[in-house]
Amino acid sequence: MAASSSPPPASNTAIDAPESLVTARAIRRLVVAIDGPAGAGKSTIAKKLADSLGYVLVDTGAMYRCVALAARQDGVAWTDEHEVSKVAARVVAEKQISLVRDEDGGVKVYLRGVDVSEAIRARDVALGASSVSAYPEVRAHLLDLQRMAGADGGVVLEGRDIGTVVFPDADAKFFLTASDEIRARRRFEELREKGADASFEATLAEVRERDARDTNRPIAPLRRADDAFLVDSSDKSLDVVIAEMMAYVATRA
Ligand code: C5P
Repeated sequence: MAASSSPPPASNTAIDAPESLVTARAIRRLVVAIDGPAGAGKSTIAKKLADSLGYVLVDTGAMYRCVALAARQDGVAWTDEHEVSKVAARVVAEKQISLVRDEDGGVKVYLRGVDVSEAIRARDVALGASSVSAYPEVRAHLLDLQRMAGADGGVVLEGRDIGTVVFPDADAKFFLTASDEIRARRRFEELREKGADASFEATLAEVRERDARDTNRPIAPLRRADDAFLVDSSDKSLDVVIAEMMAYVATRA
């Protein structure tokens, strides 16, 4: 586990962003929603978009991952809905999750004062997040946190239900996707770069398992909002995708 014992962020707000992020480029401070399945490139693209706009970035998947990790730390099984819901309630009430922009422009995730940015990316935590995110009470607690984070606008939120549930009135909504083979290929290459012991077939199976769980759950399933701009990144470079999305945001400003 790559958690370090760096000091927790000074502020006790859930989301922190330095003033330097707020640039004059943003005419009106919009709420930008990016949803889509695992491995569609949401994190990279959301970060680029937030940087270009001078907006705060809110990775809602990191919050579900933190709940999964907190449950594990507390010895609670991901299958125990009742106890996991209590963990989520505590984590939110006690402001135990912080997303903080670091000097390199990345986002550090702190849980209970410890940097868990890498720990929450573990493959089993991803599957745990997808299990605990199906529990209505867990979603309700994190929904409050996510709405608070976006309340003042000037924010890019990425997740599965931002445009449908969290901010159904978001100013610009995107549904970002790519074929499952391509998403699995990207994940597989990422894992290999990190030296993880993964096979392409296993990665593809994991991507499909998470897709199925996220799409078929009864509450806040992954789906494209009717008014979301669809971006299929299967055959497009990152730069082309960003340019398309920035052009769309400009039409909404
Ligand atoms: O986006 P990421 O892969 O980090 O999300 C981890 C898991 O958290 C997803 O598989 C999904 O089950 C859940 N999630 C969610 N709603 C969100 C964001 C993430 O259910 N808005």
